[in-house]
Amino acid sequence: MHSAPDAAIPRRVIVTDVVCRDGFQDEKRIIATTEKLALIVRLAEAGVSSIEATSFVHPKVVPQMADADTLLARVPREYGVRYSALLPNLRGAERAVAAGIDEIHLVVSASDSHNQANLNRTTAQSLAQLAEVAAYVRRAAPEVELVGTLATAFGCPFEGDVPLERLCWAIEHFRAMGMTCVVLADTTGMANPLQVGRTLRALRARFPLVEWGLHLHNTRGLGLANAYAGLLEGVARFDASLGGLGGCPFAPGATGNIATEDLVHMLHEMGIATGIDLDALIAAARTLPALVGHPIESAVVRGGKTRDLHPFAGVPLAQSAGC
Ligand code: ZN
Repeated sequence: MHSAPDAAIPRRVIVTDVVCRDGFQDEKRIIATTEKLALIVRLAEAGVSSIEATSFVHPKVVPQMADADTLLARVPREYGVRYSALLPNLRGAERAVAAGIDEIHLVVSASDSHNQANLNRTTAQSLAQLAEVAAYVRRAAPEVELVGTLATAFGCPFEGDVPLERLCWAIEHFRAMGMTCVVLADTTGMANPLQVGRTLRALRARFPLVEWGLHLHNTRGLGLANAYAGLLEGVARFDASLGGLGGCPFAPGATGNIATEDLVHMLHEMGIATGIDLDALIAAARTLPALVGHPIESAVVRGGKTRDLHPFAGVPLAQSAGC
């Protein structure tokens, strides 16, 4: 009982940039806190209103996130940005609350083997642990929003297809923790657009009160097509990473998250508002290669915007082979 697809296309979308967390976490060069802060200021000045700034994990596990507490204490507050962080346990939640976090992202994988590989426990064990974290946050900092992120929601690199019932089961646990927003993550870029549409239709029917978000990876070039499929189902909340940073540990060399500037470009071309200044975003993306020490995966940084017109010379290009 859902309406025709394009009736649901949102006019405005919230884009959460995850470059400082998902983008940087596997980078070899340790990015200094001051460099992260400078990038966050650029994102905020470009109008990005939601930033996943870090994760509160053990510094030995993810050295790149060892500065989570000091980073969050120093983020600029004058732009009205909502800052979020990923965390796996109670200790992480205590640190995030103490550092003044606005929103906490709790993650489990829909498939057991990915959850084992990532967190060394089954999905059910993780959900039980996250329920304790959620109870703590509700008690200690009721103003902090809890968002449930379901990794491998569209496929698992070890198990392949993930049954819809697995998603529903995990989402029921998130709902029991009091979450109203659930982000479906295509962690290793296995989703296709029809599957995204089908999955969202089924989940919307099953959980009509949930606000859905999508966290898409472009591992196989389907990231923006999958985002479009989400838009057709009314999804108005997307994660993306500046410069498309954020690798996949199971596919070395693969491209990462969908690039924030590519997503924003597509949305603006389709008349969907984001509140983001695309030129300022592209300028911010251009600072990334110097930070990470390698090129970035960004179509609009490479090719420019659709609206960047080229001077017309008035004569046919001699070398044009007419493709
Ligand atoms: Zn990601």
